[in-house]
Amino acid sequence: MVLSDRDSLMRKEEWNKAVDVVRREFAALPDIFPQKIGALAAAIKKQKRALYEMTISVEGEMVCELCKGGCCETGAYHFTVVDLLVYLSDGRELFSPCFAGDRCPYLGHGGCMMGPEYRPFNCITFHCEHLEKLLPDSEVEAFYAVEKLLRGHYSEMETLFGNTFAHGLLSNYERSYPAKGTILFA
Ligand code: SF4
Ligand code: SF4
Repeated sequence: MVLSDRDSLMRKEEWNKAVDVVRREFAALPDIFPQKIGALAAAIKKQKRALYEMTISVEGEMVCELCKGGCCETGAYHFTVVDLLVYLSDGRELFSPCFAGDRCPYLGHGGCMMGPEYRPFNCITFHCEHLEKLLPDSEVEAFYAVEKLLRGHYSEMETLFGNTFAHGLLSNYERSYPAKGTILFA
């Protein structure tokens, strides 16, 4: 769906506010939280790297380049609080999404604005039928084993805050912040 100029600006404002709120809440967390978030972030990045390497080992990235991100059309809600926490935990500069147009707001001219270790769960674990055909059966099994571990770490991050983050950062902001003044905690 193409947003009007006004709606895409409003969406960008919402994004900026959501990021600011999580950044502030993260900075105010007691010491035990950053330690746990850091350990989970390291495991999440390791597993995403492993999934990405399985894909490139069968030249999946080339297939994606040729396809020009056919599956990257509806990604606005793919980026979650967990993904933002990994950026914050690493002290890494965040990309600047663009909500105009009909593509994923995180898709830049050179592909996804996030490196493979930072890409949302839905994206790094997605294999369309083209990619699925490239992987031998044993690798498909290994891929889904790592995906299961990764899902477990996302779930541990949710448990840490007693919240659910699967519907995306923007959704957590919309449904939680105006009423409760927090995004991280349910
Ligand atoms: S995963 Fe499939 S649909 Fe998505 S960019 Fe790659 S080849 Fe295209
Ligand atoms: S976040 Fe990146 S990989 Fe996911 S849909 Fe958007 S551009 Fe594609």
